[in-house]
Amino acid sequence: MMRLYTHADCLQHAGGLDHAERPARLRAVLQALDHDRFAALDRIEAPRASREQLLRVHSATHVDRILAHAGDSELHALDEDTWIGPGSVEAALRAAGAVAAAVDAVIGGQCEAAFCAVRPPGHHATRDEAMGFCLFNNLAVGAAQALAVHGLKRVAIADFDVHHGNGTQAIFEREPRVLFLSSHQSPLYPSSGAEDECGVGNIVNGTLSPGAGSLEFRELWTHRLLPRLHAFKPQLVLVSAGFDAHRQDPLADLRLGQEDYAWITDQLQALARRHAGGRLVSTLEGGYDLGALAASVSAHVGALMA
Ligand SMILES: [Zn+2]
Repeated sequence: MMRLYTHADCLQHAGGLDHAERPARLRAVLQALDHDRFAALDRIEAPRASREQLLRVHSATHVDRILAHAGDSELHALDEDTWIGPGSVEAALRAAGAVAAAVDAVIGGQCEAAFCAVRPPGHHATRDEAMGFCLFNNLAVGAAQALAVHGLKRVAIADFDVHHGNGTQAIFEREPRVLFLSSHQSPLYPSSGAEDECGVGNIVNGTLSPGAGSLEFRELWTHRLLPRLHAFKPQLVLVSAGFDAHRQDPLADLRLGQEDYAWITDQLQALARRHAGGRLVSTLEGGYDLGALAASVSAHVGALMA
């Protein structure tokens, strides 16, 4: 049994006029998952994250700064590409709450795996700052839920978004109970994620050059990232599932196809089944070409349902 967490409020956040991170992304994802092939998904309305859940990974200053925008009637720029406005706070609370609830469900045995179809994305948000379209770090909130509420000792985060998950890395770089693995294009926003950034031995970055495709991506995961994940023997696998390394994506220069997303998903699921009783929670990060995003999410969720 696999669950899908989402909420209509996640469609209400506007990234800004003509912004790549737009409501149509989530509409494309939900439309793709409306296909008969996904009829067996158990669809759950995402709850709001609580203040307590947010404060495990964010400063009170940051949480209050975001929450102060509830009820806004106009858009405000938090940085040059991160906006907040009408509906943003509700969307952000549902996005983070989805991942925390999904973690509760897989650990509680209500489902084996879950996919959170939410926005805004989260992996660039640091303890103190919104950035890179991200307000709260949704996946970090989920990881902290697993540590603090469920007492897990080994939580792995696999991030295959084309951008480095700088926020997630910064939040957990001194937390040995969390292993963070990321494949990303370099050079590219946000310019972090060099292979010598290792945290306390719990951070593993793998970089891909512009123009790299399926072969380089699979070699990187097969030889550098997945062996570290196996050795860690995670009790829970969390996935920052960004689909902007697709060859059609307008924000980056890698050449993956949806079959590569099916492949990495198969690898991560096999690993979760071997070490973690199958417990896996994935959440949507980037992916900005609507057709490529819909096809890639279908490949990802289809593989998780197998
Ligand atoms: Zn991205």
